Amino acid sequence: MARKQEQEPARSEVEEVAAGVLRMQLPIRMPGLGHVNMYALLDDEGAAVVDPGLPGPLTWRTIRNRLGQAGLAVRHVHTVVVTHSHPDHFGGAARFAREAGAQVVAHRAFRFGVLETSDEPEVSVEDLAEQTGEAGAQVESHARALDAWRSRTPWGGEHPMPGFRTRTKWRMARWLGRSFIPPISRPVRSGDVLKLAGREWFVTHTPGHTEDHICLHDPDEGLFLAGDHVLPTITPHISGLSLSPDPLHNFFESLDRVAAIESVRHCLPAHGHPFRDLRARTEAIKRHHFERLENVKGIGRRLGPSTVRAFSRELFKPRSWGGMAESETYAHLEHLRLSGEASVHRDGGGQLVYETG
Ligand SMILES: [Zn+2]
Ligand SMILES: [Zn+2]
Repeated sequence: MARKQEQEPARSEVEEVAAGVLRMQLPIRMPGLGHVNMYALLDDEGAAVVDPGLPGPLTWRTIRNRLGQAGLAVRHVHTVVVTHSHPDHFGGAARFAREAGAQVVAHRAFRFGVLETSDEPEVSVEDLAEQTGEAGAQVESHARALDAWRSRTPWGGEHPMPGFRTRTKWRMARWLGRSFIPPISRPVRSGDVLKLAGREWFVTHTPGHTEDHICLHDPDEGLFLAGDHVLPTITPHISGLSLSPDPLHNFFESLDRVAAIESVRHCLPAHGHPFRDLRARTEAIKRHHFERLENVKGIGRRLGPSTVRAFSRELFKPRSWGGMAESETYAHLEHLRLSGEASVHRDGGGQLVYETG
């Protein structure tokens, strides 16, 4: 099978993808992903960067090299925009804040992403508060994320992150300690306007992939910074482990919301190459999920009442089996249940059992 563009390794060339906007590819190694695009938006004062990669020295060295190719240094970065709370997007933010005094922009619901994907029991909320020196509200939302992960999954299955990766992340998190968590100095919401690259960009809140995902739209140049919300050839993971009861519904709404934005001519995703037709891509992504929902219903008819794991093993190929597949399957089953197309009960072993049609 041909490699998807999102899987391509990071290229070292810095590309000008639009007026005052540079694409810099940073290396990452995550399932299905070979690079993350950090965009640098240039103005008279220096630059803003969007999604500065994973935490850690390899990314940081690459960031400095890429900025250098564009005649910039770390100290020129006055703003960091983080599209959502996944570590491949917020990794360099804390360091830019520390070393360049950059303000960090993220949605006001931003939550420390690693907690979302770990059941590590050794970090308490008190530890977090001490490490981060953060205000109550932010620590509380971290606490909710922690709680959601300490217990078993809502459907009674294993945790979605394979132990190996969870451990790696936590080793990384411990090693980086306080330096890892970005301070959000400018929390934003839908409709807020940011001045970047010398012009106005509008914030759109696009929950689905995460609850705190934002996209940015520049009507002057017809640019759209899509983060992970709309990717060119793959669909973002929709996790059932969410504070929202129906993250898939939120995702559909967020796709419609961005498809309705007029005059987008150039879409800049966080992984893969820039593309033109935002609306067509949102339609294709919705179709993918509609087909998946139909598949889930068909599986239910075939198997009869079944656990989330049983559904997920019909829905996904064996190489994808595991917690993440179950989490995505759970999101689809809950979407069907909440729209009246599935019912659920808990069996004697504490597992959720779904019945469709
Ligand atoms: Zn993501
Ligand atoms: Zn991503």
